[in-house]
Amino acid sequence: MPVKSALYVVATPIGNLSDISQRALHILNQVDVIAAEHVQNSKHLLAHHGIATKHIRLIALHQHNEKAAVRTILSFLGEEKSIALITDAGTPAISDPGAILVQQVREYGFTVIPIPGANAALCALSAAGFINPHFLFYGFLPAKSGLRQRELTALAAFPYSLVFYEAPHRLIDCLTDMTTILGAQRQLVIARELTKLFETIHSCTLNQAVAWINADPHRQKGEFVLLVSGAQIEDKSCISIQTKKTLEIMLRELPLKQAVKLTAEISGENKNALYQLALSMKA
Ligand code: SAM
Repeated sequence: MPVKSALYVVATPIGNLSDISQRALHILNQVDVIAAEHVQNSKHLLAHHGIATKHIRLIALHQHNEKAAVRTILSFLGEEKSIALITDAGTPAISDPGAILVQQVREYGFTVIPIPGANAALCALSAAGFINPHFLFYGFLPAKSGLRQRELTALAAFPYSLVFYEAPHRLIDCLTDMTTILGAQRQLVIARELTKLFETIHSCTLNQAVAWINADPHRQKGEFVLLVSGAQIEDKSCISIQTKKTLEIMLRELPLKQAVKLTAEISGENKNALYQLALSMKA
């Protein structure tokens, strides 16, 4: 039997309905209440696995009602009920509703029990072939190009693989900004429709991505994880001691962008490499 007054955070499939653990199915069958992002979508999953919902109360918890749903769930927990939280796909609270609920449930002293399973980012990363053991999960970038470019600029110097979620209608614009800000030669893996019929995992450099997508109209459809290799820290060590010294002096007197620009002009060094070095010096 599930633990009383506990919230189970249950991962569900990201496409293939079989990608759900036995423990998850057991819990979903036994809890008093299931809080689902879309009740109708979840009924489909539950029915597929033979879970009858007559004896379970299903309530909606999505990004537009999360705060109100939290109050309802806290009162259920106060009545010793067991609750499962699920979203449309993958792990709740990861670029999905649920984080506020989990935070509140923990703050009120109730137990939170994770039931691990599918997650698009980790699924993509496991098949990307990136050797770097470190990665930074970013999730969705802003929809507007100006903000997106600003956030990408803040990520440009990180020597970790970068993992993004992106909507199909923003894919081209996003890849164009990534090429401009992160650099044309970074390795990219486009992981599309993971675990589904048209699963595609394509590797190329950032500047090859848009042409590859445009070569087939199907390639722009579906769900996407974009993985980009991290900044090459070796680049920095190629910069001469003299140039490093110049940059250091410039940084003492000038804002970062100006310091980088002038140092690049004086030394002939690559501006991006100097920018990354300047960021690490500042840090
Ligand atoms: N919580 C989910 C998780 O654990 O992965 C993520 C939910 S987020 C709202 C949805 C985004 O995840 C999609 O826009 C896409 O970027 C990514 N995604 C979800 N399923 C996917 C799939 N089957 N293939 C590729 N990307 C997927």
